[in-house]
Amino acid sequence: MGTNTTDTITIMSMDTSIKVELTAPDISAYRAGNTGIDYFTTFDSGKPGPHVLINAVTHGNEICGAIAVDRLFKMGLRPTSGKLTLGFANVDAFLRFDPEEPHKTRFVDEDFNRVWTPETLDGLRDSVELRRARSMRPLIDTVDFLLDIHSMHDPHGPVMICGPLEKGIRFARKVGIPEFIVSDKGHANGTRMRDYGGFGDPASPKNALLAECGQHWEQAAADEAWQTVWRFLRETGIVDQTLAESQITPAQAAQKVVKVTDALIANSLDYRFTPGLHGLSVLPRKGDLIAHDAGVPVVAPYDNCVLIMPTLRHVKPGLTAVRIGQIVGQIVG
Ligand SMILES: [Zn+2]
Repeated sequence: MGTNTTDTITIMSMDTSIKVELTAPDISAYRAGNTGIDYFTTFDSGKPGPHVLINAVTHGNEICGAIAVDRLFKMGLRPTSGKLTLGFANVDAFLRFDPEEPHKTRFVDEDFNRVWTPETLDGLRDSVELRRARSMRPLIDTVDFLLDIHSMHDPHGPVMICGPLEKGIRFARKVGIPEFIVSDKGHANGTRMRDYGGFGDPASPKNALLAECGQHWEQAAADEAWQTVWRFLRETGIVDQTLAESQITPAQAAQKVVKVTDALIANSLDYRFTPGLHGLSVLPRKGDLIAHDAGVPVVAPYDNCVLIMPTLRHVKPGLTAVRIGQIVGQIVG
């Protein structure tokens, strides 16, 4: 891919500089795979157990997942029960990753993570991402537990997106990191892979987690992805537990469950967050000031209001400035 393995490249933007500390791995060796779907490989233990998928690059420029999956391949990980599939989703976008223009390769035609309904997948529309999703769908239909590894545009602490269901929250608690578990209904403009089919059915034993590991290109995101992978694998029971434990470091904080309640839409270009607030800031009291929107105060509608992925730069009228949620549960220890 022609990425430089030694230099750190600094990208300057409006009011911040984001370093690309991570190097996108060469995944060409995984193209053939053994599933009939490019870049997907299944290891079958031959013993009963669930089918687990560790999935990277649902968004092409979120490379921490690709680094983790590449490491799992290189260490020769095999399941001791059930099946383990390792894969790279939006490879067309990923292969265009350019550390000098890292924002441009989230997708090619459309967001791969907004097409996961039977209606869209069975529909007549065509795009690079829809073709890829359609090719992956038969495999996804056989997956019991999905870990979809992501990262975020702006600097932000890691969050586990577990969907709207209690089973997702329970799974995220078992994984045990990160501190913030975010329960949400997804996005109005399409359905995520983690909400597809049985993952989004409360009656199904299938389950999925979407790990947002940190800022796209920071080393900390790669470290978080690796810890998340091993904690996830440990909970599925398909890998050697001693091996899993050898990779896992202790959790740093008790987990908090945040239920997303609203997407706050900006009404103006003059949307100013209260100085000092950032992603995962907790506003302790109802009425605490989140922002001014053209001078109009925007306040927390309840106690313990958490800001999730605020758009601290380039807020646009009519678009989400920040999602907010309420802390509903904390696990001690
Ligand atoms: Zn993503």
